[in-house]
Amino acid sequence: LRKTFSQHEKLRVVSQLAASISHEIRNPLTSSKGFLQLVQEERNEKTQREFIELSLKGIDQATHVIEEYLTFTNSAKDKIERIDVKHSILELIENLKLKAGKVSFHHQLIDDVYVDGQHHSFRKCIGNVIVNAIESMPLGGEVSITMIEKESLMIAISDSGQGMTKEQIQRFGEPFFTTKDEGTGLGMMAATIIVHSMKGKIQVESELNKGTTVFIELHKSLKADTG
Ligand code: ADP
Ligand code: MG
Repeated sequence: LRKTFSQHEKLRVVSQLAASISHEIRNPLTSSKGFLQLVQEERNEKTQREFIELSLKGIDQATHVIEEYLTFTNSAKDKIERIDVKHSILELIENLKLKAGKVSFHHQLIDDVYVDGQHHSFRKCIGNVIVNAIESMPLGGEVSITMIEKESLMIAISDSGQGMTKEQIQRFGEPFFTTKDEGTGLGMMAATIIVHSMKGKIQVESELNKGTTVFIELHKSLKADTG
């Protein structure tokens, strides 16, 4: 099964985001406030500490939502850079090794292929996809990252993890759609917005209990390669 994003869907995603972002921030802050009020009335020190813990958790959750949100809204006015794709992905893999745990990386990357965009956003986008691949294989496995160069550049990120149902594939990239206890459901929305801002395409193919491949297609940088 495959899902592609149209311009129309992109707009829908953005307006859904606007509708849900305040809700997603207000919720944890409201709970945080509630726990702090409970602390005021609580005599038992141990219980007080528990309430404070829970309150901090709410603030962390709200911060997390804001951070994921800001990473791509912030970038519009930043200047466009020429990104060395292989170099950027290798750096990312290095940074994700700790998080990967029992998951290993396999990569087939091509030298001297460049795309135009912002380093920070590009890394965020590919990083979010790789992290999902890692998280889909809690018992370990392999994430495979492949560059295919034609007229455009295709980056394929595959795992042999839990995969997605038809319904989950439909909702891939939708803000706050998550199947994880601690998930934000913002990673694929951010990735989608970043890819679209680079005038590229993102697609997902997935089969339940078999695995998932995310394809990111980008225009190659037209500037002459000066090495
Ligand atoms: P989060 O990771 O916080 O849940 P994402 O936006 O990154 O949010 O992903 C949304 C959902 O898409 C995940 O909760 C999961 O259900 C599904 N998903 C994304 N990537 C994969 C993958 N590689 N394998 C299985 N499911 C995935
Ligand atoms: Mg994620």
